Amino acid sequence: MPPRLATGIALFALLAFPACANGVSTSAEYELQSPIDLTGYATVGGPALECAYGGNEPSVEVANGFIAARYEPGNALTLGGREYMLREVHAHAASEHRIDGELFAAELHMVHQDKDGGLLVVGVLYDLGEPDPIIQGLLDAGAGGSVAALDSGLLNPRVSAPDSSTGSGSTGSGGAPNSRCSCCASAYYRYRGSRTTPPFDGPVEWIVLWEQGTVSPEQVEALMAVNGGEPNNREIQPRGEREITLVAP
Ligand SMILES: [Zn+2]
Repeated sequence: MPPRLATGIALFALLAFPACANGVSTSAEYELQSPIDLTGYATVGGPALECAYGGNEPSVEVANGFIAARYEPGNALTLGGREYMLREVHAHAASEHRIDGELFAAELHMVHQDKDGGLLVVGVLYDLGEPDPIIQGLLDAGAGGSVAALDSGLLNPRVSAPDSSTGSGSTGSGGAPNSRCSCCASAYYRYRGSRTTPPFDGPVEWIVLWEQGTVSPEQVEALMAVNGGEPNNREIQPRGEREITLVAP
């Protein structure tokens, strides 16, 4: 599809004055929209994601087709020397971002904010497979259950390699089922975009983990049930002239 950004000059102006360039007066008109298809990226070195989540439980709200877990500041993610606080976790089904054209079954969003209000969202893509414990925590809390499974300490990095002590290669019980985390020490895609829900404002620093998790078909169905049985993902937006990198720390 054709890019919306006509010229490099327009892009420069928007980056300098994101809210008002070219007569655009509302944040909904922010040009660099998300989600996008992550393709044509260059693999580069760069900073690792560093998480030190403190272990506090969120408040949970079900509204607008989503289950949202909201956290008080205190759970820090650091990227390249800049500190962000975890503020919200929610999920989309199907995925919003694609990789080389591929749509995934679901996508977890960990919304972070720095002290100046700048947004950084970590996205985790899921294939169909074994159920994911974080998604299940969202679903259970959204149904009125305990929020203990969404304790931010559980979102800290965990070992993602298979446990060598089991020797079976199968998914173990307990420990780190699915090994999914918000802030794995793995490679990630990075680009500049917007929020994918109203008011679609930006800029948002997007981090999509290279490593995918798995969700069960039942979990995908349950995520959509919160939205009246319909997908709650936004459609792909034009990439324009944006750079996408795959950062391998
Ligand atoms: Zn989202």
